[in-house]
Amino acid sequence: MGVLDGKKGLVLGVANEKSIAWGVAQACRREGAELGFNYLGAALEKRVRPLAEKVGASFVAQLDVSDDAQLDDFFAQVERQWGELDFMVHSIAYANKDALKGNFRDTTRADFHLALDVSAYSFIACAQRAARLMRPGGAMLTMSYLGAVRAVPNYNVMGVAKAALESATRYLAHDLGPEGIRVNAISAGPIRTLAASGIGDFRKLMDKAARGSMLKRTVTQEEVGNAAVYLLSDWASGVTGEVHYVDAGFSVGAGDPGCA
Ligand code: NAD
Repeated sequence: MGVLDGKKGLVLGVANEKSIAWGVAQACRREGAELGFNYLGAALEKRVRPLAEKVGASFVAQLDVSDDAQLDDFFAQVERQWGELDFMVHSIAYANKDALKGNFRDTTRADFHLALDVSAYSFIACAQRAARLMRPGGAMLTMSYLGAVRAVPNYNVMGVAKAALESATRYLAHDLGPEGIRVNAISAGPIRTLAASGIGDFRKLMDKAARGSMLKRTVTQEEVGNAAVYLLSDWASGVTGEVHYVDAGFSVGAGDPGCA
């Protein structure tokens, strides 16, 4: 018996076995969910399909979240194949590498638009389409980071995107609450992934996170996955509009001297 038995859910944002989305997918599968995935283009399809097979996924299709036509097509396919949707996990972000180092004040208009579009607006775009397939009890989840509420060196425009994402989480929760659909975010501590490798001095960020956290270590994809299971399950039926920290206590601690 798993807490997600009988539920069908999309996990958007698996790129490889290091992806946070993959940690979430494995935990959801362990708890009995039937899963669907997206991939961004042919190169990633080769990585995503074998992983999807490992967890017996019944739906895999292409989706670039910056393309409205692909969004419409993707969710139409979900509807044709599944009819209804119980949960959706959005674990997607992108910014130009140049914008993730140096001074925030040098952010260009183009880099701002790209980061905010792919990393924040895309949650709204997915949520409006997913909500049409959900009944009361449905749940949505996105992935944020502390850079939304603190100025973290090098995180720069992605911090602004995460602030927008966290705010969007609250507005979506407000809109969808009357329909019985919950919307939450997890703010994860730093984890070595493909996306994280684009952030300047990421190793330093990991070191600071480990030293400054209450548990004196960083967190894992599996730990984020387990927290995701709770937020997506009926155990969290009274929880919506929340940003839930899975960061080994870093954000609420005093940290070590010199920790950002
Ligand atoms: P990842 O590289 O494994 O995942 C990022 C995903 O975004 C990839 O699957 C990529 O294909 C997808 N993506 C990018 N642009 C896209 C587009 N236009 N359309 C569709 N998909 C697109 O890295 P990750 O660290 O697992 O990132 C997942 C989420 O977790 C992101 O929102 C990230 O900001 C967030 N997060 C990461 C950390 C960390 O330290 N790794 C910490 C907190 C939050």
